[in-house]
Amino acid sequence: MSRGLRAAAKRHSLPPAVFMLSSAHTRTQLMSTVVDTPRTYPSHQPPPAPSQGADQGRQEDAERILREAVAAKGPRHDWTRKQIASIYYQPLMELTYQSAKVHRRFHDPAEVQLCTLMNIKTGGCTEDCSYCAQSTRYQKGTGIEAKRVETVESVLAAARTAREKGSTRFCMGAAWRDMRGRKNALKNIKAMVEGVRALGMESCVTLGMIDGEQARELKEAGLTAYNHNVDTSREFYPSVISTRSYDERLRTLAHVRDAGINVCSGGILGLGESSEDRIGLLHTVSTLPSHPESFPVNALVPIKGTPLGDRPPIDFTSMLRTIATARILMPSTIIRIAAGRKTMSEEKQALCFMAGANAIFTGEKMLTTECNGWDEDNALLGRWGLRPMRSFDKSPKPETPGPAN
Ligand code: SF4
Repeated sequence: MSRGLRAAAKRHSLPPAVFMLSSAHTRTQLMSTVVDTPRTYPSHQPPPAPSQGADQGRQEDAERILREAVAAKGPRHDWTRKQIASIYYQPLMELTYQSAKVHRRFHDPAEVQLCTLMNIKTGGCTEDCSYCAQSTRYQKGTGIEAKRVETVESVLAAARTAREKGSTRFCMGAAWRDMRGRKNALKNIKAMVEGVRALGMESCVTLGMIDGEQARELKEAGLTAYNHNVDTSREFYPSVISTRSYDERLRTLAHVRDAGINVCSGGILGLGESSEDRIGLLHTVSTLPSHPESFPVNALVPIKGTPLGDRPPIDFTSMLRTIATARILMPSTIIRIAAGRKTMSEEKQALCFMAGANAIFTGEKMLTTECNGWDEDNALLGRWGLRPMRSFDKSPKPETPGPAN
């Protein structure tokens, strides 16, 4: 073994023999799990390659799965975790190239949707999501106190500003566990939704768990989309939240879907999850009865005073891999770069757009965290030859059979 290979094995904490036996592709997998995935829970990582022959067979298999996925004529809902892993662990440049091809077949690659997210009710939430500044459990450390719900007038004034600045989707978030016993609040929120729609904007709300009747009421008010993130894989989820289950989240998504409202559901990267958990997240959303209309990809913004306040930032390549894989698995979905974009360089954002992301949150704030502003974002889009997407203008381009490779 050369000195270079020995040093590389040491750098990635791999036994030299394993490192030497592994192909370049397997090394990519192993490095990805070692470098970007601190583990604090039972392992479910892919096993190391047993032999070079078996590894080569597996690599050919992975390449075939990617080829078939890229050539698919429309959305598929029968993905297995193994197939998703085969795509996710492809060499990153190849993965990004293939996802860019899919993106161009299903979307206008020059268009990026501008959305603004307003907190219409801050703090005081009874849930214990470990990343959230708005939970009462971490209030002592975060200093964020519960506030009353914003008035309909103030919300619509913010929506008008967002529209003037170029946003076409206005999202309203309330820090609640659910909507039980909030009849009055629901009435006001419906008025907000109607007002946003009257401005010609798409409207989205995120209010915690809702039942079928509440979903139907929101649909009648003209709601375009309901956001409820699954956050991470089913396995890792209990390490992040204990006060409501993964299945409860999926039930809310079913109520939203059944009411005819677009589902917006995504994840947060950098919670301490592994690559396998990111694959699990992608598996959950890509095997729903219909793909989410919108898949937000958040990078954790660690907030002092929350249990995850000291987490290191997510490795950018994991973010890019997740976006590229999501684009291939869910070709028609709008993929949003959500929280954490503030710390991403312009070049990193451009790579995400290239890989298939086609929406961003822009404005003064994103819930309780800093957000890139409209002027900054419009200038960025201009420099890269991109332009804002119009409202309700994301119907997929006419389908043509994809190339074989
Ligand atoms: S439910 Fe929402 S507002 Fe409440 S703690 Fe969790 S993320 Fe925060």
